[in-house]
Amino acid sequence: MRPISYSRAHDVAGAIATVTADPTSDFLAGGTTQVDLLRQNVLLPRRLVDINDLPLTQIEDRPDGGVYIGALARMSDVAEAPAVRERFPLMAEALVLGASAQLRHMATMGGNMMQRVRCGYFRDAVSPCNKRDPGTGCSAIDGFNRGHAVLGTSESCIATHPSDAAVALMALDARIHTEGATGRRVYDIDDFFRLPGSTPHLEHPLGHGELIVGIEVPYTPVAANSLYLKVRDRESYEFALVSVAAGVTVSDGVISDVRLALGGVATKPWRARRAEEILRGARAERETFERAAHEELAPARTTPLNAFKVELARRTLIRALETLTSPGSAS
Ligand code: SF4
Repeated sequence: MRPISYSRAHDVAGAIATVTADPTSDFLAGGTTQVDLLRQNVLLPRRLVDINDLPLTQIEDRPDGGVYIGALARMSDVAEAPAVRERFPLMAEALVLGASAQLRHMATMGGNMMQRVRCGYFRDAVSPCNKRDPGTGCSAIDGFNRGHAVLGTSESCIATHPSDAAVALMALDARIHTEGATGRRVYDIDDFFRLPGSTPHLEHPLGHGELIVGIEVPYTPVAANSLYLKVRDRESYEFALVSVAAGVTVSDGVISDVRLALGGVATKPWRARRAEEILRGARAERETFERAAHEELAPARTTPLNAFKVELARRTLIRALETLTSPGSAS
């Protein structure tokens, strides 16, 4: 048994100071992933600083029509917030599809951004795994990798990023606000999530003791006509094989704006910029959608077990675009 000391923080500065001062410490928020990993001896902190009392639960309208979400806002509260449901339906849908009702009530938005991969080799605490024990190798590359990534992979790691909410936030160009010993910082979400490269243990740019305090979602009209499609092996309590966060605006049959991100297929929430480039300014028709989906998946690197994800991702992307541009959609 490993002893862990536990304390509750009552202000942001105090929480940051306590964790910064002790390299063996960590923040504890909703705990929906973290407690599992503590029990499995994957995470080994000696001190936990519970941040659930911090005043970071706000869901605030911004003057420009955007929304600012405190890091401790629960997934369920954000999914039900009128500002999110009305102006960012793809985010509300991603949150609802992202976890069971019990988990949505516990899990926080900041914690969702920090959740760890579901790779079984990472979580068994004994297999070689570059993410858990840098330099030991990757058991998944020649192992059971049906759920693993086909985009953004490296020779060191092919684990799929697990979050649904982060995929929607990627499509929306969200910004992650943090506080740490050196002050406040704001990260573009695409910079917040790192590709594994040769350092898969470094998943984000946060320093030790740097705390996510909020997520800013800028207003964008394209989000009004948006959706989140999630394909998985069963209808509930399951991670995505493929997911698509999409928003499209069509004017006189031409796509005037589009946002696309993919989940379940990449080592980070994947902004589908190749597809967006093809679609923007093109006619809203199936042939264009097929070309965009084909180009986005062209760099995929597959294994015999996960090669099916390429075609599944193409079809899901096309389905999302057809749904959003069909007669009767809001575009
Ligand atoms: Fe570890 Fe990544 Fe390989 Fe899984 S895919 S075993 S997390 S290095």
